Parts: sequence; structure tokens; C-alpha cells
Amino acid sequence: MRKEQALLFELGAPGRRGCSLPQPDIPVKPLDELLPAKLRRGIPLALPELSEGELVRHYTALSTRNHGVDSGFYPLGSCTMKYNPKVNEEAARLPGFAFLHPCQPAESVQGAMELLYRTEACLAEITGMKRVTFQPAAGAHGELTGMMLIHAYHKSRNDQRKRVLIPDSAHGTNPASAAMAGYEIKEIPSDGRGLVDLKALKELLDDDVAALMLTNPNTLGLFEEDILEIAAAVHEVGGLLYYDGANLNAIMGHARPGDMGFDVVHLNLHKTFATPHGGGGPGSGPVGVKEHLVPFLPVPLVERGEKGYYWKDDLPLSIGRVHGFNGNFGVVVKAYTYIMMMGAEGLRQAAADAVLNANYLMERLKKSYALPYDRRCKHEFVLSARKQKKKGVSAGDIAKALLDYGFHPPTVYFPLIVEEALMVEPTETESKETLDRFAEVMEEIARLAEEDPERVTSAPHTTPVGRLDEVRAARNPRIIWDGDEGSE
Ligand SMILES: *Cc1c(COP(=O)(O)O)cnc(C)c1O
Repeated sequence: MRKEQALLFELGAPGRRGCSLPQPDIPVKPLDELLPAKLRRGIPLALPELSEGELVRHYTALSTRNHGVDSGFYPLGSCTMKYNPKVNEEAARLPGFAFLHPCQPAESVQGAMELLYRTEACLAEITGMKRVTFQPAAGAHGELTGMMLIHAYHKSRNDQRKRVLIPDSAHGTNPASAAMAGYEIKEIPSDGRGLVDLKALKELLDDDVAALMLTNPNTLGLFEEDILEIAAAVHEVGGLLYYDGANLNAIMGHARPGDMGFDVVHLNLHKTFATPHGGGGPGSGPVGVKEHLVPFLPVPLVERGEKGYYWKDDLPLSIGRVHGFNGNFGVVVKAYTYIMMMGAEGLRQAAADAVLNANYLMERLKKSYALPYDRRCKHEFVLSARKQKKKGVSAGDIAKALLDYGFHPPTVYFPLIVEEALMVEPTETESKETLDRFAEVMEEIARLAEEDPERVTSAPHTTPVGRLDEVRAARNPRIIWDGDEGSE
């Protein structure tokens, strides 16, 4: 049953209060003296009047309406919604970090600079890059920064190139970022394996190609086996390789973009390295580069000298700043804490467990759903609801039905190359019991799609609201209470 939550304005009663203030013990001036009548409102403001208990219950009820990783399974593909240990939050809130001012002189923030320096070293090691900037505020911002670095690199060689190649399975931000940096985009088709079509790629390569943007494993969760050949072919025509490392969950500690031949990589600390996300941030999208791109990095960089850490500003070829100060520092503190807590062995294990969990679920679910690219997957896999669609049940319907069982749905309709896509990423921290329960529910929904499709297409039945008009909610949101129930 749906449970309606009344608005604050509909609760309480006139005169009810949530606190008792003592009578003032100093003389209070008459109102007219404090504020002339013509400046005062004619009718009192219609504020809600509630007791403290009513207020607390209202907000507590609202706070449980969001589904998050702390409330249940959240297998959103391409977006690593993993459980993040709370100790990272504690570290970020230590007063020595939380109360710094970004304009403080370097001598007074040596600890924070050491943390940046050390985290940079960790991420450089994990990705196989030379240096890393922490300025970009999120993944897409990292992509734009990376594209600007590539642009600056070619420009410094008097080799202006126009085109960036991107596979058709790429995350939507890739073409957007490359276009924003002024590049023309050319799409590379995937082949029957769900991997980059090597022949098609080679046909597109010429000396106008600035870069290839790729993620590996790709968004189908599949490892690009030909990556060394791909990298060699791109480098041969003078292009660079950009690695979208938003989700490093599958490979950290096992394989490094740098070793695969990539020149630039961005990471999402808010996906792989212990900052919860969803709901708008803050995030952090550090960008790592190989030696030949270091001169173009945003300034300043943290360096260690004889007298301690200092900011290095004199990079004449730098693309400049892409963010105020040093990006979202608190997120870097969480990532550093996480990396130190896990250690190299722990990170390697997390990746292995993420891949194991994904393959376990994939093997079971491919019995009830189509699996267009049936290969060993990495941290995620993409099912298709095309069998269910024949009964009138779409991927979107299945996503809605999952809500009734207390699960957040997987990503749907992405990547675009899979019809009725359901993209599942279970992550490393989920137990076998949770995975089994999710599989049972998915099987139950597949059975309902056969026997009682109406039950699925009318879902959800138990959430506070049913199917919203998403277009109207985005284009014409009604966010002000005007006391008139019936109005639009
Ligand atoms: C999430 C994601 C991005 C974008 O990251 P934001 O922090 O949301 O800007 C880019 N690429 C891939 C593969 C992603 O999963």
C-alpha cells in the first residue's frame, strides 16, 4: 500500500510550537519603533505550527524514503554504487583537515600537502601514470581536462588535429567532453564480441586523429582484449589514448591503464575510492598523465623540497586552472584513508571480489534474461529484456517492479547498443545472500512477465508514488506549496 506523507503545512495546529523560549528579561521596543508599519506584511506568514515530536517524525519519515547503499542493494551499472566504510568520513572531518582555509600559507598546511602528495603517488602507481592533478571536480570534468591536455600537447608540436574517436558503447559524457574541447567526434562500432571493431578503428585512423577515448573494461563490462594492438595503432598515427577510469573497480591492483598504452586517465574517487555519490556530490575526478603530458597539467602541483612541501606554479605550458584551489580536498582525504586502510592487497582483493560477484550473478541471470554478449565479464554485465519485451514488459517495467522488492534497479537503456538494456554492477561488498535474493527476485519478475505481465507493467505498487511523468517533473516541476491541493 502506498503511504502518503502529509506536508508540514498540513500537519500541526495553530499555536503549536516545537520549542519554549523564556520571556525576554530586557525591555522590548514596540514593534512600530523596530519596523515601520509600511514595511511590515499585512497578513501573517502562513508558517507551519508543529510540536517538536511531529517535526522530528516528519523529517525522519522523509529521510527513509530515499534508497541508498546504506539502505539496500544498489546494483547501478557504470556508476559503482559501492558501500564505503564510514571511517573515511571520520578522517575527512578531522578538524586539522576540515577547518583549513585554502589560502593558508604552505608552511601552515604541510600535513594537507603531504596527503595530496602521497595520494598522488598512490594513484600514479595504481594507474601507471607519472603525475596526477586533483583539480577536476568530477568525472566529466576530468574528461574535459584530459581533452584540454591532449589539445595543448598537439598544439605545442604545431600539430593541430580535429578528431576524437569514441566507441559506440562509450559513456555519454565522453563525446560531450570531447566536443566541449572543440573536437569533432567519430564513432567506432563494436563488433560481435562487444569489443572495439579493430578493422573499423584502423580505417578511421589518420593524422587528423587527436585521441581515442576508451574505457577498459568497456561499458558492457568486457575487457578490450586487443588493447595493446589498439594503442599501437593509435600511437602510430600520432594520436593519444584517453582512459575513462570512472570505474576502476574491476582492475585496480591487477592491470594498469598506463601499461595498456594509455597516455591520460581520469578516475572518479566518488565511485571507486570511498566517497558516496548520487545526489550531486561533491565528487573528485583526478587526471593522471604520462611524462610527455606533465608540462601541460593544471597548476599548482605539490612538490617536496628540502624545506618541506611547496606549490609549483611555474609550468609555462600549463592549461591553467580548471577549479579553484585544489579541487574537492575532502574527497581526496577519504580516498587516501581508503587506500591506506585497504593496502595494495586489499584493493586487489576488492577488484577480484567485484568481478566474482558480477560473474556469479551473470551466470544465474542469463537463464531468465537474454545476455547478448555472453563472455566472462568484469565488474558489470548487460542483460537484455528483449524476451520479456515480446510480452509487453520493458526494461523500464522491470526496473519499476524491482522497487517493490526493496532493490534499487540497475541502469536501464544504456549502453545504447543493447536493446532493452539492464546493466548490473553488484560491487564487491555484497554478500552471497544478497546476490541470491536479487537473483530470485529477478527470476520472479521474469516469471511474472510470462504469466501476469500486467502485474509488472503496473509496478511499482508499494512505493510512496507510482510512475511519475519524468518529462513534466523535469520541465515543469511544482516545488512551491500554494495551499491549493487541486492546482497544477
Ligand atoms: C560516472 C561516469 C562518468 C562521469 O562521471 P561524473 O563524475 O558523473 O561526471 C564518466 N564515465 C563513466 C564510464 C562513468 O561511469
